[in-house]
Amino acid sequence: MGIRNYLRIIPFLLTATGIFFGHSDHPILYLFLTILIILSFYLHSRLPIWMFLFIAQVLIHLSGDKLVLFYLPILILISDPVITAAFIGSEIVVHLQKGGLFTFTYPIAIFVVIAYLLRNWLKEKHDNLKRELELIKKRSEFILTTEADTKQLLAGIKTSPHPAIYRPILHFLSYLRRSLAAQTVAFFYRSGDDLVLTLGASTIKGFREGVRVGVESGILGHVVKEKREVIIPEYGLPVKQLGYYADPKIEVKSLAVVPVLFGDELEGVLVIDSATRSYTTADREILRNASSTLAYLTGMVRLYEQQRRNAIHYSALYEMAKRLQQELDLDRIIEISAQVASAIFECDHVGIARVDPEINRGEVLFSDGLKMIKPHTSFSLDEGLVGWIAKYRRYLLNNQLKKGKLHRVFRKEGSHPYHSFIGVPIMAEEDVLGVIWVESRVKSAFREEDSELLNFLAFQLSLAWNRANLHKKVSELAISDSLTGLYNHRHFHEEMDRLLAKEKRLVLLMLDIDHFKKINDEYGHQVGDQVLVGVARLLQSGDGIPARYGGEEFALILPGYGERKGLETAIRLREKIKNQQMRIETKMIKVTVSIGLAFYPKDGKNKEELISKADAALYRAKREGRDRVAVA
Ligand code: GH3
Ligand code: MG
Ligand code: MG
Repeated sequence: MGIRNYLRIIPFLLTATGIFFGHSDHPILYLFLTILIILSFYLHSRLPIWMFLFIAQVLIHLSGDKLVLFYLPILILISDPVITAAFIGSEIVVHLQKGGLFTFTYPIAIFVVIAYLLRNWLKEKHDNLKRELELIKKRSEFILTTEADTKQLLAGIKTSPHPAIYRPILHFLSYLRRSLAAQTVAFFYRSGDDLVLTLGASTIKGFREGVRVGVESGILGHVVKEKREVIIPEYGLPVKQLGYYADPKIEVKSLAVVPVLFGDELEGVLVIDSATRSYTTADREILRNASSTLAYLTGMVRLYEQQRRNAIHYSALYEMAKRLQQELDLDRIIEISAQVASAIFECDHVGIARVDPEINRGEVLFSDGLKMIKPHTSFSLDEGLVGWIAKYRRYLLNNQLKKGKLHRVFRKEGSHPYHSFIGVPIMAEEDVLGVIWVESRVKSAFREEDSELLNFLAFQLSLAWNRANLHKKVSELAISDSLTGLYNHRHFHEEMDRLLAKEKRLVLLMLDIDHFKKINDEYGHQVGDQVLVGVARLLQSGDGIPARYGGEEFALILPGYGERKGLETAIRLREKIKNQQMRIETKMIKVTVSIGLAFYPKDGKNKEELISKADAALYRAKREGRDRVAVA
């Protein structure tokens, strides 16, 4: 194979690189060129045509597709026979006769030209469409939908609004803008003393969100004051005054500002400006209609949101009721209630306190978000709002609390940043168990309806609280002795089991009143009972865990005690009882006791051994003359 044949490969390589790397935008063209090269090879396997095509390829590569794309086929069309003729001279006739060159190259070249033209035409169409779309996009409205805005719109509603809720208003504003040939339609919602740009539709990109304007002066202020629309056919003032255009070069030809009234209440202000149209008094009716439609829409949106909020709240309360039903632990009940309150009210602080109006005191059970008001803090009911609620048994709503003016719970709680407060008593029949309250740093955060909601929550809480109290009482009854209130015989055994399982050392005291029969005989059984109560109180006031073992016999467990400390305690106890004058009815009675001690683990490895050792010691103390302490 000669050098020429190698050279012939180059166009193919170029074509391949062209397709895969260079100009993959037009692979068809490269393919076409390749086919052309192959054809020219087989048709006249001479230098000129493929040489020419090779150069063409190089040109395509160098020009990055652009230069020869369109001219190439024409060039081929024109130059092919010329070049062929020039190079081959006499052979041109042969070629013409063969017809190869013409019959193949020309139709293909023509096809390419047509395809190219078609493609260009289509491309232009496509580009135009794209440009138009772009234009439409730019021209289309800039609609304000920031969260803060919708919060303003639904002022006072504390659940985050559903994203779709303000759509009807947006669509209405957008419709209004188009039908009034306006540039911008902006709805300023009234928020406190200001107007806040809440929702709007505009063709201007620089349309600003959340603009807040005062109402003391300006056109908007005037409209708020007069509650009448203002129509300015030739605006002529700087657009800066409108507040919502960032770019001062934006033109406003005419302006209409319409109050949005719901009944007599001013909901906000509708601002409409146009760069092309001039609004006049002839538009008054349509503007008024638009404003009242907007008022109704806003009202409906608010109503809907209210309903949705109620649904959410009541389902939260239902869930809470369900969870509280199973709960008997007061701490958990308080915790669940506080969680639900904080979810429903979106507040900054939840507090729950237990109160006892009889002793005029309360105790904080739950408090989050306030450093000073800690759980377990005890307080007088005379000092703060919480005490007030407990004393007067009614709810309290204050949305305008000033710093440091009123105490929530007690005098020394310090000042805190919360302005809104709502609290209700937690009632059980006629008794007030406690108070639940929530606070927010936002002014006017709560409404009258919120007190109902909180009341309902408090009611659920009180049911569970009562149940927990009852449960506690019942379980206490099961373990305590009805006369003295000490642990009963059965629970003494349970306590022994529990303590022996965890303590390394322990002392058990068995204690029996001396000659108790005499007391009964002398003063009667009832006085005897009171003596038992008196001894029980003395036992309760000292160390260890006392129990009524039976009759006039008591037990005292001293967990963790060693021999010396146990003996000292027993001796002190004997003295204490001996020296105590008990006043029962009109009589002054004194008793003595005998005490037997057993030490764990020295005297016994288990409960039974210990009890019997202590019993034996007690028996010895009796035998040795009573009013004494004996060790096992
Ligand atoms: P000592 O223990 O010193 O030997 O003399 P004692 O008189 O205390 O003798 P004992 O322990 O045998 O008698 C206990 C008496 O305590 C018998 C019973 O009438 C009386 N007793 C037991 N339980 C009660 C009670 O609940 N109330 C009253 N009032 N008396 C009780
Ligand atoms: Mg006895
Ligand atoms: Mg006795």
